[in-house]
Amino acid sequence: MYGPDSTHDPALRSWVESANDPLTDFPIQNLPFGRFRTHRNEPWRIGVAIGDQVLDLKLAAELCPWPARVSVWLEPLAAGHLNAFMALGSRPRRSLRAALSAALAERSEQAPFLELCLVPQGQAQMTLPCNIGDYTDFFTSIHHAKAVGRLFRPDNPLLPNYEWVPIGYHGRASSIGVSGMPIHRPNGQYKLPDQERPIFGPSRRLDYELELGVLVGVGNDQGQPKNMGQAEDDWFGMVVLNDWSARDVQNWEYQPLGPFLAKNFATTISPWIVTQEALQPFRAPFQRDPASPQPLPYLDSPANREYGQVDVHLEVLLQSAAMHERGQSPVRLSQSNYKDASFWTIAQTLAHHTVNGCNLQPGDLIGTGTLSGPAQEQGGSLLELSAGGWQPIILPGGETRSFLLDGDTVMLRAWCERKGARRIGFGPCVGTIAPAVPWPAA
Ligand code: CA
Repeated sequence: MYGPDSTHDPALRSWVESANDPLTDFPIQNLPFGRFRTHRNEPWRIGVAIGDQVLDLKLAAELCPWPARVSVWLEPLAAGHLNAFMALGSRPRRSLRAALSAALAERSEQAPFLELCLVPQGQAQMTLPCNIGDYTDFFTSIHHAKAVGRLFRPDNPLLPNYEWVPIGYHGRASSIGVSGMPIHRPNGQYKLPDQERPIFGPSRRLDYELELGVLVGVGNDQGQPKNMGQAEDDWFGMVVLNDWSARDVQNWEYQPLGPFLAKNFATTISPWIVTQEALQPFRAPFQRDPASPQPLPYLDSPANREYGQVDVHLEVLLQSAAMHERGQSPVRLSQSNYKDASFWTIAQTLAHHTVNGCNLQPGDLIGTGTLSGPAQEQGGSLLELSAGGWQPIILPGGETRSFLLDGDTVMLRAWCERKGARRIGFGPCVGTIAPAVPWPAA
């Protein structure tokens, strides 16, 4: 296993003072990659978040002296191509991390050069961190699968394949955007419970889904599956993901082929990719209840059992338009943890995705599925928290919610913290619901 190194030392401090703030998501131990610009007409550039700043890697490649091998890896990044760097694999990832860590650490001789390459995050407009060619969404939380299964099929909540095969479906890449992207209430076709025929109109059951997203680093050739070891080595990093969902549309359309228009109108991710290396101190064993079927051999490995999971704390907050007007802080709706929620690890989902010969490519996004915890109040969607809309949530100020209303802002948060390690965070994944776009007149 790739073990902790000097880049993970919790005592390591940066000459970028804001990175030493105990509350920052981006201390020197994190160093996530994103894509930004400061003016409308300039090309997008790759940056690394450090405290409340962005280190511009184009400027850093030009203005700062680097060892020759580091300059080679900085080349695709300086050109704005994160995918090309992601495709290089774990060794360059780890070496560049070590070089950036040393350069940003206190007493670094590169500090006078890199000071000229910092952009305040407040001045940076963010876009998708890489080109996402394909998007697949899994269903790895057994607690979510059971809770939602109970609502859709009370007599048969968990289908018999669930404990054997990582369930997923192909999503849509074109409608993925970063935190802050506009979310219009989708129009669609759905059936009200007391009516025989479906109606068309703005969804009345708009929901969020609390997920993490995994970005593929090294791809695989068509027909050449990844084994568990390759699958583990080849993922690049993670983001927070909100898989916005129209439950009324979903309920009417999902059989027999699964989600379609209920899900593909918008997906929001956080703009910074937290690398697999930054997550190293937070890896955790994969344990399967002995009463459940054990993974088939192609989904099993000693390394996966030893550290296949990742310990990520998750929470959802909501602020209604009225709360915003009153200056009231967002209210927390739920909390959960990725390692407790997921029945399948990242390596298992990637190995499974390729087992039939399907080729993954650098930058592909793999959603974990809604990460609900075991308790009802740990539901990762309003569908679960409001028990299918039957038990509305009461917000501060007395408003109630079964599903999202226009003007509601949903904030997903993720962070890792453990004794003996520096806390790292994922940055924002926020969206505000705008009214449905009126149907164009014929
Ligand atoms: Ca989902």
